Amino acid sequence: AAADPAAGAAVKAADRAHVFHSWSAQGLIDPLPIAGAEGAYFWDYDGNRYLDFSSQLVNTNIGHQHPKVVAAIQEQAAKLCTIAPGFAVDVRSEAARLVAERTPGDLDKIFFTNGGAEAVENAVRMARLHTGRAKVLSAYRSYHGATATAINLTGDPRRWPSDTASAGVIHFWGPFLYRSAFHAETEEQECERALAHLEQTIAFEGPQSIAAIILETVPGTAGIMVPPAGYLAGVREICDRHGIVFILDEVMAGFGRTGQWFAADHFGVTPDLLTFAKGVNSGYVPLGGVAISAEIAATFDQRPYPGGLTYSGHPLACASAVATMNAMAEERIVENAADIGERVIGPALREIAERHPSVGEVRGMGVFWALDLVKNKETREPLVPYNAAGAANAPMAEFAAACKRGGLWPFVNMNRTHVVPACTITEAEAKEGLAALDEALTAADAHTA
Ligand code: PLP
Repeated sequence: AAADPAAGAAVKAADRAHVFHSWSAQGLIDPLPIAGAEGAYFWDYDGNRYLDFSSQLVNTNIGHQHPKVVAAIQEQAAKLCTIAPGFAVDVRSEAARLVAERTPGDLDKIFFTNGGAEAVENAVRMARLHTGRAKVLSAYRSYHGATATAINLTGDPRRWPSDTASAGVIHFWGPFLYRSAFHAETEEQECERALAHLEQTIAFEGPQSIAAIILETVPGTAGIMVPPAGYLAGVREICDRHGIVFILDEVMAGFGRTGQWFAADHFGVTPDLLTFAKGVNSGYVPLGGVAISAEIAATFDQRPYPGGLTYSGHPLACASAVATMNAMAEERIVENAADIGERVIGPALREIAERHPSVGEVRGMGVFWALDLVKNKETREPLVPYNAAGAANAPMAEFAAACKRGGLWPFVNMNRTHVVPACTITEAEAKEGLAALDEALTAADAHTA
């Protein structure tokens, strides 16, 4: 589309007058007005096009404006825009069936929500009612959402302003060899020590008081730390031994991101509850949910489940989910994510890491990769301090600005940049983005010592 800076200025003026933005000091932000998006790209009103290496908030797994998903929403809108959750309706039944078909094991009942945080809230509620226990264990270096329970479960600084002592949440350290909490030197040690640490945490908290352990299968925003072989199976075994519900949060890792439908598929582990959102319909209409095991579902066979949402299983959201899952299967989009990740992105990032003094570690799978940026490869000191803001965060801000100048929209969190494009990304697009990233890393290299 032709540039139209005046239209962009009007959009921004109304935004600044009336839109209250997430996570921001309202007086300090400068949101970019967006004119449109398609596939792997979006563009502004000034004629700048960006290759989306963030998938927005890591949710547009199928890319922007996929025609089959757009058409499904249009068709559903003409047919039935909304209906209360108590009715049975074709698109909701089909969306639930398709999700259940893809989730591991016996996770065959689906409770729909409007997004990830509500999925986490409801999974925790189910676990507490199922076990009659109150506490929930979650990991440092995690993100589970911004509602009351979900933000308390979160293991990053976004939790601090909303911490409530009554939430019944206990944090523990998950495995992460590059910045090991256990002074481990090998993945085997890290795995063994992380499991021993979890066992000890449970012993001292009292196993009979713990309803659930919640983990991101592959922690996302916190740094894409692929767990070592055996860790998740070890947690599964610990949960079974103590009657603790195992919740895997696949809001970010699910629906193709890791190169499988669910990240749990890589590890052969089935949780009792699995939360999803984002990639289920790429966020074209807000949707999330909980996939529930037969045993937990049975708890609510004769006893009412005390939770609900006006828009649970919204027809427009469900229609877009059905179209998304079908298109992903027909066009082999999950297979594409695995192939591009293994053949193109992974090798290119490892090669980039060799040439750039600021790249301390490359880790990931599928279209789910992180570069851990450091001041010094030997000491592994992060390029910016934990939770840095303002001047202290300048090196990362300069890096992000360099990406944008090069036509690449990066995902940046603390001292990391994540390479998380759409699962539909082509080899040529991936290479274009990797070249821009390579160039922009020079800005980060300037801060190494
Ligand atoms: N869980 C994980 C793993 C996430 O990455 C997110 C969002 O980034 C959430 C939960 C919260 O989802 P939402 O923002 O849709 O509430």
